[in-house]
Amino acid sequence: MARSPGIARTLPSLRRARDELARRNATIALVPTMGALHDGHIALVRLAKRRAKKVVVSIFVNPTQFAAHEDLGSYPRTWKQDIAKLAAEGVDLVWNPDVATMYPDGFSTRVAPAGPATAGLEDRFRPHFFGGVATVVTKLFTQVRPDFAMFGEKDYQQFKVVTRMARDLDLGVKVVGAPIVRERDGLAMSSRNVYLSPDQRRAAPTLFRAMKEAAKHIRAGDDVKTALADSATMIENAGFVLDYLEARQAETLAPIASLKDGPVRLLVAAKIGTTRLIDNIKV
Ligand code: AMP
Repeated sequence: MARSPGIARTLPSLRRARDELARRNATIALVPTMGALHDGHIALVRLAKRRAKKVVVSIFVNPTQFAAHEDLGSYPRTWKQDIAKLAAEGVDLVWNPDVATMYPDGFSTRVAPAGPATAGLEDRFRPHFFGGVATVVTKLFTQVRPDFAMFGEKDYQQFKVVTRMARDLDLGVKVVGAPIVRERDGLAMSSRNVYLSPDQRRAAPTLFRAMKEAAKHIRAGDDVKTALADSATMIENAGFVLDYLEARQAETLAPIASLKDGPVRLLVAAKIGTTRLIDNIKV
């Protein structure tokens, strides 16, 4: 039987557990999550285990990164299964604060990221999002004080925002990115995939297929705008309403006109029914 991780729900118990883990200068890696864990999260845990002696996973569905009309209330919560998965991976500690611990009465500070957070991608459709992410990640970093923090490239703009923020604020954490884990048919794993009906689930891999198609044309030297327009049509024909499909400089997220401005990353966000999916690939 795998040993269950320690579980901390209050700041004093986190501090005790954290100091115990850090004894004899053991390095600590943090994997921040909102729970509903899938193989994408587990890949981050495995990467964390390779990088550091001790692994802490946070599970916190962060209200400040959801807008009022978004899915905070219905976000999937699968605590028992999550803990079983983390036990099987040998995770040392789970940090699972409640909302009042993270945002006590009178809480009135917000970290306001710029740069990659204002690139005109997710921020255009979820203006509240990166402020909420930056605030909660800053708190997680100062609470857990990890040496490393693992973030998935699935949320590519978020990965860039957190990397920049950790540097800008001298948070003393090395942010490490991990490649996207996909289902066999190419759909990027996401806690939100459980919202998809069987028909929507069948249509969903079109996002990845359409991006691969655009990447192939762009690599072959075809016009970027035309390649993206053709792939956008593919996505819309599969039943999606597109928020964006864009080619961006992979590091700065600045718009690009051709491969010469690269390295290039394609990023997409689209809704099918009421479920919003995001994905991205390297060109
Ligand atoms: P979430 O629980 O959705 O907030 O995600 C927690 C972390 O897992 C974030 O760093 C995500 O980018 C990462 N993640 C989510 N899905 C995937 C995936 N399919 N592949 C790699 N990382 C992922």
